[in-house]
Amino acid sequence: MNFESLGLCPELLRALAAAGYDTPTPIQVKAIPEVLAGHDLMASAQTGTGKTAGFALPILQMLKQAGERVVPKGVRALVLVPTRELAAQVLASVQRYGNELKLSSTAIYGGVSERPQIAAAARGIDVLIATPGRLMDLMQQNAVSLSGVRHLVLDEADRMLDMGFLPAIKRILQKLPKQRQTLMFSATFAPELRDLAQTMLHNPAEVDVSPRNSTAVTVEHRVHLIEDAKKRDALLHLLHNEPRQTLVFSRTKHGADKVVRFLDSYGFKSAALHGNKSQNARTRALGGFKSGEIQILVATDIASRGIDIKELPAVVNFDLPNVPEDYVHRIGRTGRAGASGLAISLVGREDQAHLKGIERLLKQPLKREALGNFVLPERVAPEVQKVRQPQPQRKPQRSTQPVHAVHPHPARAQGRPQQRQSQSQRGGGRSPGR
Ligand code: AMP
Repeated sequence: MNFESLGLCPELLRALAAAGYDTPTPIQVKAIPEVLAGHDLMASAQTGTGKTAGFALPILQMLKQAGERVVPKGVRALVLVPTRELAAQVLASVQRYGNELKLSSTAIYGGVSERPQIAAAARGIDVLIATPGRLMDLMQQNAVSLSGVRHLVLDEADRMLDMGFLPAIKRILQKLPKQRQTLMFSATFAPELRDLAQTMLHNPAEVDVSPRNSTAVTVEHRVHLIEDAKKRDALLHLLHNEPRQTLVFSRTKHGADKVVRFLDSYGFKSAALHGNKSQNARTRALGGFKSGEIQILVATDIASRGIDIKELPAVVNFDLPNVPEDYVHRIGRTGRAGASGLAISLVGREDQAHLKGIERLLKQPLKREALGNFVLPERVAPEVQKVRQPQPQRKPQRSTQPVHAVHPHPARAQGRPQQRQSQSQRGGGRSPGR
């Protein structure tokens, strides 16, 4: 199977060749012909499967072939996405695939000035990628009109519902013409989403490229059961032993900032990506991580969508997400497009219940591995007890010895924060991620 046989035009084929895509992914094979045939589509596909090209390529082609001129403030194709990062990511793909087609495209999202967005909307936009909140703002100011939309895409629809965008989506839908093509992409289709799909889609083709809530088979999962207070040292140990570009997930913004400060103090180039950061800081952090200038990006779940880095070798869950589906999304940042990836989870006391939920969702146990001396006492790890010989109960004692030998790092060798080491040596302190 190649892209030509999917019926794509020469301009798109050249763009795909330039992007280095030889073979369409399964979602592209199934979705592109349906979309080109004008059908509505409900597609079950997780991130990393190539779903963006699955909707962007046929829509770009249809817009080109229709040959209509967009009117001022008008929009011809609207892609709704949950997060700013995903909006920027989808825009980059649309521009890459459509660079020979002379179609206009813009992303509008919150956290940055409205002015350039209003100016772009005033000229009319062939492909608009938007987060629901900012789009509503611009609609209320009559800066943009959706009455001419011919194609609507809901990307990562499950996430949009999780983030409470359902009322905004319903209000946006009221402004769209009934005659349009609608495509819905989602990792999962919970009943609420199916209800929404019923009201939005007409006789949709259904495409399912991955078993529900699965992670890519190319990702190796490792679970380290660990005391919460030792997680930061364990992270350091991991990064020293296997230096590589790593995306670290923290459940909280505050936790993400603390991990970054800790890693910085050990000479690791790291940055935080979360909702309290300005859009400029988020863009800078993501850009630095993509270029390799930043080695460790510490992100919260809100920022996990849209982080698309070629061959990202490893993701570390500094703590596990409360919502099991978020594990799938976090892990989807590695092992993309067939590359191999590693997903490491530091599982403390509080995380253990979440671990069970994740394993239930994935319908598979995740491999436990000991990490140096960082072993959680067994009394809080019943699943490990089951497979080991019973041992006499011993009250865990605070060690006065170093928990492990942290390899000297250049920054440390230059006399950088010694007090951090002594704190970690005490093995005390509060849980860093909360
Ligand atoms: P997505 O699921 O749309 O976020 O895409 C995941 C990654 O796969 C992105 O980095 C794309 O550039 C890449 N990709 C998409 N389609 C293909 C393809 N047919 N061949 C190689 N890489 C692809």
